[in-house]
Amino acid sequence: MTNGSVKSGDKYPNRLYYDNESLAMFGRSRTLAIMSSTCVRQLQHPDKRHSMRFTDADSINEYRITGFCQTCQDTPYG
Ligand SMILES: [Zn+2]
Repeated sequence: MTNGSVKSGDKYPNRLYYDNESLAMFGRSRTLAIMSSTCVRQLQHPDKRHSMRFTDADSINEYRITGFCQTCQDTPYG
């Protein structure tokens, strides 16, 4: 039973991992995407509408971790 024990410290310990990963996969750093409030996959899918209107708190958290906009979270395109 470990409940609520991950509240302190770095909220996203895998930040650098995701940055390198997103840079390699999508040609864009997740941190830069989030800092400019854009989708990390915008360069990879410039023809899509990347909606930054998130449907709920979980989607916002997901964006902060992965840099995926609502559209990309909803759409499993490769
Ligand atoms: Zn997107």
